[in-house]
Amino acid sequence: MANINAFIKDDVILGAVLKANAYGHGAKYTAKTLYNHGVKYFLVATLLEAIQLRNENANYQLLVMGHTPDDYLHHLINYNIIGTVFTLDQARLLNKLAYKKGTQAKVHLKIETGFNRLGMQINEENIQDILQMSQMNHLDIQGAFTHLTLKSKDSDLNQYNMFMDLISTLEAKGIHIPVKHVCDSIGMALYPEFHLSMVRVGALLYGLQSEDKGIIDVKPILSFYTKPSCIKKIFSGESVSYGNRWFAKNDTIIATLPFGYADGFPRTLYQKSFVTIHQNKYPIVGAICMDQCMIDLGISSEVTTNDAVEILGPYNNIEDFAQLVGTNKNDIVSGFAARIPRVYIKDQKICHIENEIL
Ligand SMILES: *Cc1c(COP(=O)(O)O)cnc(C)c1O
Repeated sequence: MANINAFIKDDVILGAVLKANAYGHGAKYTAKTLYNHGVKYFLVATLLEAIQLRNENANYQLLVMGHTPDDYLHHLINYNIIGTVFTLDQARLLNKLAYKKGTQAKVHLKIETGFNRLGMQINEENIQDILQMSQMNHLDIQGAFTHLTLKSKDSDLNQYNMFMDLISTLEAKGIHIPVKHVCDSIGMALYPEFHLSMVRVGALLYGLQSEDKGIIDVKPILSFYTKPSCIKKIFSGESVSYGNRWFAKNDTIIATLPFGYADGFPRTLYQKSFVTIHQNKYPIVGAICMDQCMIDLGISSEVTTNDAVEILGPYNNIEDFAQLVGTNKNDIVSGFAARIPRVYIKDQKICHIENEIL
């Protein structure tokens, strides 16, 4: 995090993006750790993600970057969560709900500049709408943001300029937007001149960045380990898993591992993937099941049920893994299921274990 902080000026807010269970890293403990290091602004995709964090700490600043359905808007007010608004209708509704509660609803405006996902398109009618919103007594417009497509420097600059032109137009009409932000991790690394009041950093926090755009010195912080649940010898010609699709060519030893596609390990890696035990690679054999899979240890293996099995880590890096699956790294880590216990390490010691139930 020091490397990220060194990259932004002191007056720029480091907004930590904790959506999708902090990209699979566990939102609650990640938030707590960051908070203890001075980060106070947390961004998530959905209302429920924000409420989960609010239940942890009343002092977190929480922004839902995605859409909140009308029926759920009152929760933003009740839980003191900043919502994202891009229609006059929702602004009116929030204003009304906040009026009833005798408070103000906090929002950021989402501005459309070319990503064409969420946001108000920039035109006269919408500027009039923002003017109306700014006059609502129970609506506190704390910020405004847009999202870059990161196609090229030219197109990103064009989006930035569209956004800033709108901000100037609003300023000229007496509307001051305190917290302005456009950069995600890559935008932050590429364009220091676009940082404005806040950067929205997700992937980089977890040490994930695209190789071609990597400028900041970070390393992936997540590894994925298990232990064999069962080890057995099978004879030449015996098969493993559903459909008997894999046959042992010789007598061999098979270890069962307690993870499967429901844990976020892609089922499509059938016959393609390996795990590492004591620096040796072993192939996953047979169909990957929902909760388990099997590896072929070979007949002379001395692996026991006490040995650590690395699925991702120093020997199986996330770049290669994502490439094997044909996707990006965020897709892999954010897919890891909530049921997998998260083990946090500090100074080479376990400092916390998080699971859903215990
Ligand atoms: C997910 C998200 C981010 C964070 O993106 P990273 O590339 O992971 O830093 C920033 N802004 C918005 C609007 C997002 O949805």
